Amino acid sequence: MGKRFVELIKYFYECFIETLFPHINQCICCGEESDEVICDKCNSKINYITGKIKLKDFDEYVYPCCYYGHEIKKLVLKFKYGRDFYIGEKLGDFIIDKIKSFEDKNWVLAYIPSSKKNIKDRGFDQCEFLAEYIEHETGILAKKYLIKDDNVKEQKRLSHKERIDNLKDAFQSSKEVSGKEVILIDDVITTGATLFFAKKALIDAGAKKVLIIAVAKSTI
Ligand SMILES: [Zn+2]
Repeated sequence: MGKRFVELIKYFYECFIETLFPHINQCICCGEESDEVICDKCNSKINYITGKIKLKDFDEYVYPCCYYGHEIKKLVLKFKYGRDFYIGEKLGDFIIDKIKSFEDKNWVLAYIPSSKKNIKDRGFDQCEFLAEYIEHETGILAKKYLIKDDNVKEQKRLSHKERIDNLKDAFQSSKEVSGKEVILIDDVITTGATLFFAKKALIDAGAKKVLIIAVAKSTI
């Protein structure tokens, strides 16, 4: 009983330390010892994007922080499905660096809301988490300006045309964005259809300007 009790105490102690100091001295990608949050080896494999890129299917520019390669995919999945909020904050830092590269300073922050089903499955809304973290770190006001129709189907298995039909009336924006400069954030951009129509809803509600930033852009 004594030994098992000590093991149990040790286990709880480790959980407690992991909660207080998650991933300390560890690379969040590979888990190897590292003084940096992402070790040099993993960092060199991340394909960062400077400035903006044009979406293939829309007349629209977006500002992803990097391409959705192996390392970033691992981080996004651990954050989204493993509820690793420490990683979520690091992904939020990517977006903050991007925001700092813009000259304008009077932004408000909007985000693509998850569906009720996804929130129930994952236990949280990942873009809301990112928006709240960015608000906390930068003071930029973040709000749920966008509402997404919950009848919209999952995009993954739809063709390009079906995606457009599925999304074109999917978003509604609060009129509070009227006259404001908005940063619209998402985790991963695939075709950009979601962001294109979300931006349209913000503009229709009177937003003066909308910039789209995401953690990553998939090469699809
Ligand atoms: Zn690493």
